[in-house]
Amino acid sequence: MLSGTTRKLFMSPVLLALYLLPVIGIFAWYVRSRHRKELASIRAAEEAIEASMTEPPSLHPVINPTKCIGCRSCVAACPEQYAHPVLGIIRGKARLVGPSNCIGHGACKTACPVDAIELVFGTEKRGVDIPVVKPDFETNIPGIFIAGELGGMGLIRNAVEQGRQALESIKKLGGLGKPDRLDLVIVGAGPAGIAASLGAIEAKLRFVTLEQDSLGGTVAHFPRGKLVMTRPAILPIVGKMSFTETTKEKLLGYWQGVERQTGLSINYKERVTSISRRPDGASFEVKTTKGSYVSRAVLLTIGRRGSPRQLGVPGEKSAKVVYRLIDPEQYRGRHVLVVGGGDSALEAAHSIADQAGTTVTLSYRSPAFSRAKPKNRDKVAQLAETGRLNVMMNSNVREIRRDSVVIDVEGETVILPNQAVIVCAGGILPTGFLREVGIEVETKYGTA
Ligand SMILES: Cc1cc2nc3c(=O)[nH]c(=O)nc-3n(C[C@H](O)[C@H](O)[C@H](O)COP(=O)(O)OP(=O)(O)OC[C@H]3O[C@@H](n4cnc5c(N)ncnc54)[C@H](O)[C@@H]3O)c2cc1C
Ligand code: SF4
Repeated sequence: MLSGTTRKLFMSPVLLALYLLPVIGIFAWYVRSRHRKELASIRAAEEAIEASMTEPPSLHPVINPTKCIGCRSCVAACPEQYAHPVLGIIRGKARLVGPSNCIGHGACKTACPVDAIELVFGTEKRGVDIPVVKPDFETNIPGIFIAGELGGMGLIRNAVEQGRQALESIKKLGGLGKPDRLDLVIVGAGPAGIAASLGAIEAKLRFVTLEQDSLGGTVAHFPRGKLVMTRPAILPIVGKMSFTETTKEKLLGYWQGVERQTGLSINYKERVTSISRRPDGASFEVKTTKGSYVSRAVLLTIGRRGSPRQLGVPGEKSAKVVYRLIDPEQYRGRHVLVVGGGDSALEAAHSIADQAGTTVTLSYRSPAFSRAKPKNRDKVAQLAETGRLNVMMNSNVREIRRDSVVIDVEGETVILPNQAVIVCAGGILPTGFLREVGIEVETKYGTA
């Protein structure tokens, strides 16, 4: 029984308010924070639509709105969410607000308590081409194998595992060890290609690994300092690669160490241009930008990002021409030309223009940067206004000379002093290459 005084205290409006205020405060804070997050998600979704970045590149979630209870578990579970908006809650339901930022971790599906998420390739509008690969990684062409993200299975750990497993199948092939040809050509030195190459050393195969760019594949293209979420995987010879959370630089440093310790030799800056079966029917001729190889088998670990689109102008083979920005600081005090109109071109142009003493020109063949995010367009407009960046719309590079570049701007020829060219003109997807080789490709429109 409450005493009279206690009862009075409980009934006191002041005391009641004292008890209720924190509860109301917490509730108000929760509602405000939810509202702020929802507004941010709507903004992200609108920006993606404005920049035409509404198509996820590969495996991605489709959310069933009738099942979704808006619990945010998927948003919290997405490992990419810390860097850019991927998932968001709008009107109480989960939405893929940044489709092009989704890289197919699949953590959202695992996190969803009501099974409202399905992981699929492609959308109704845009199909995604996936080569048909058997469980042993062989394609419809006997002797040609595919592992890693090209086969549809993204992520570093999966690529490593598949590269290793594909090698297990290849080393069982008949006709290996002939003196007049290689046993295997591995194309691509991303995580799948690295694992397969180590497997080939372990199996004592006669092989070559060809890479059009540098070690690490897509990982080498991640933004500086990117947080990499992965799971442990087994590398042949080396053993367990036990990373779970690391950075781009640490992972690349680890692979460079593996390359040195194991004597792995990779032919960098050599792009494979064609693969054809030789008249003997039991081997392939692999043609590259530097020569050709005859091999019993070919393993394609070329990922899905393809090869950089080239300008096809005289002088493009010069060492001063690159197809991605690595470090803006290396361009300090130099005359630089950036070519392209997408986010990578705009980001390259403004980050180099921010360096001391640079003279940067951004050349784009169209009249507007309609494919880039508003944030990048604003930054470029700001720098152009203050004279820190020279923007040439409706322009086409005609020639790259030793110390200058020749550009056509609406029919007028302009010659600019130049010491470096960065071409960000997009990529040529590998589907055409696969079809030319004769590999069967299936187009998926929003199916698993
Ligand atoms: C922005 C971003 C963030 C990501 N973050 C993560 C993450 O945190 N965790 C995770 O697990 N995964 C992440 N991924 C996915 C991961 O990077 C890929 O799934 C993985 O790199 C695939 O490995 P791969 O070896 O199959 O192909 P890739 O890494 O794409 O390597 C393919 C290689 O083949 C080369 N090549 C292509 N064509 C030719 C040719 N014709 N001749 C010679 N060489 C050729 C390319 O230059 C490239 O080096 C991310 C991807 C992106 C885009
Ligand atoms: S985890 Fe599932 S139920 Fe929760 S918000 Fe995401 S899709 Fe909806």
